[in-house]
Amino acid sequence: MIKKLIQRVFNGKKKTVNSKSHHSVHRYPRRDHGIDRKQLSSAALRTTQELQKAGFAAFVVGGAVRDLLLKRIPKDFDIATNATPEQVHKIFRRSRIIGRRFQIVHVMFGSETIEVSTFRGSHLADDVGAQIADTGRILRDNVFGSHEEDAVRRDFTANALYYDPHTEEIFDFHNGLPDLKAGVLRIIGNPQTRYREDPVRMLRAVRLSAKLGLKLDPATETPIPKLADLLHDVPPARLFDEMLKLFLSGHAMESARALREHGLHHGLLPMLDVVLEQPMGERFVTLALQNTDERVLADKPVSPAFLFATLLWHEVLAAWQKMQAKGERSIPALMQAMHDVSDIQAEKLAITKRFSVTMKEIWAIQPRFEQRSGQRPYRLLENPRFRAGYDFLLLRCQSGELPMELAEWWDTFAQADAEQRAAMLLPDTGPKKRRRRRPRRAASDTTPPVEA
Ligand code: ATP
Ligand code: MG
Repeated sequence: MIKKLIQRVFNGKKKTVNSKSHHSVHRYPRRDHGIDRKQLSSAALRTTQELQKAGFAAFVVGGAVRDLLLKRIPKDFDIATNATPEQVHKIFRRSRIIGRRFQIVHVMFGSETIEVSTFRGSHLADDVGAQIADTGRILRDNVFGSHEEDAVRRDFTANALYYDPHTEEIFDFHNGLPDLKAGVLRIIGNPQTRYREDPVRMLRAVRLSAKLGLKLDPATETPIPKLADLLHDVPPARLFDEMLKLFLSGHAMESARALREHGLHHGLLPMLDVVLEQPMGERFVTLALQNTDERVLADKPVSPAFLFATLLWHEVLAAWQKMQAKGERSIPALMQAMHDVSDIQAEKLAITKRFSVTMKEIWAIQPRFEQRSGQRPYRLLENPRFRAGYDFLLLRCQSGELPMELAEWWDTFAQADAEQRAAMLLPDTGPKKRRRRRPRRAASDTTPPVEA
């Protein structure tokens, strides 16, 4: 009882110390965290050294420190400093100031670019420079701040660690190091407020915990399903960036599972909504994501267009079937379905034109894989989208939508010599002759007739 009371008083006290602007900092020496400055890229090291030589504070911050502590290789290095963007730009000849909302500086070293940001101020409503929408979402937060303020506005305690390469100390304002050691991802401050300020943090919570194998702290996790709808207000371009991170960084399967578990696949990601809830669609998406993960882990390129083509396919398929049922001819029905689906998604996700064009090309050539007579298979082989189209076809076959024999035929045909190819062609039914229907298979009901 007494112990509890003391604990409560103690906790209460600690809280006041930690509230608003006073967060006591913990400085951990190297022996406590084990990061060696040699683990930084030479560009990151040079950047901090130059800034410090000019009399400024400079730290490696965010994902890189977190990843090093987890014994992972950081993707890139971000630097936080008290120098203004102009001051940073003056120090580095090869640098440029970017961004309108909040300026940061890109410092270039050969192929490596280091992002340097000036400590950013508090996000509180009464601050000059901050603008908040009715839902609590921050529209603008372009004020410089102190080191301590910079730490408060970061999302998770594990992302708010600052490493000084000179002293090899870690500065921790939010108990991030103990959290990381305990394998916990915890949001800084009041979870509801922080998610309202920026709903993308919910996606980040799910993505980072899936990717890093960290457990979401209960208070961080609980409000997510309730606040999921806030994602509707996020600008589509930001959602699109986040989607790419979710699905193209080698943890797509785990991320999709976690999104679903937290109710984040509804509404915001209509593709997953529809798809993950019907067996064949689920199988198709699962295979596609597995495939993507394997490619990423093997350092092979992955294409966002292909990924989105797979995520949306079963929606296209459903729309296509519906239109055919209304009496529309197969090919025009497919074209219409493709455009309808991609228009809806473009609004929500801002799939950039560059990707959506390729995505539609992958869909549009699908019926051509059904044509295996005359000159058509040869022409398809020459199509610049043949490879992507074939990979897509393979997923359709593997998921049970089409007979596997079709993908096997194309695989053999693509590798065969001229004579073998000629022998593989199916009898030509000619344009005037009646089309011969192949025996119907349950899964190929949706197959359009041969395109003329
Ligand atoms: P990744 O490994 O995916 O790059 P990351 O944590 O480095 O993860 P970035 O988007 O590169 O993610 O962000 C860098 C840092 O900026 C984060 O570690 C965090 O401190 C801060 N940050 C990023 N997004 C937000 C956000 N929405 N709200 C608050 N802080 C953020
Ligand atoms: Mg990063």
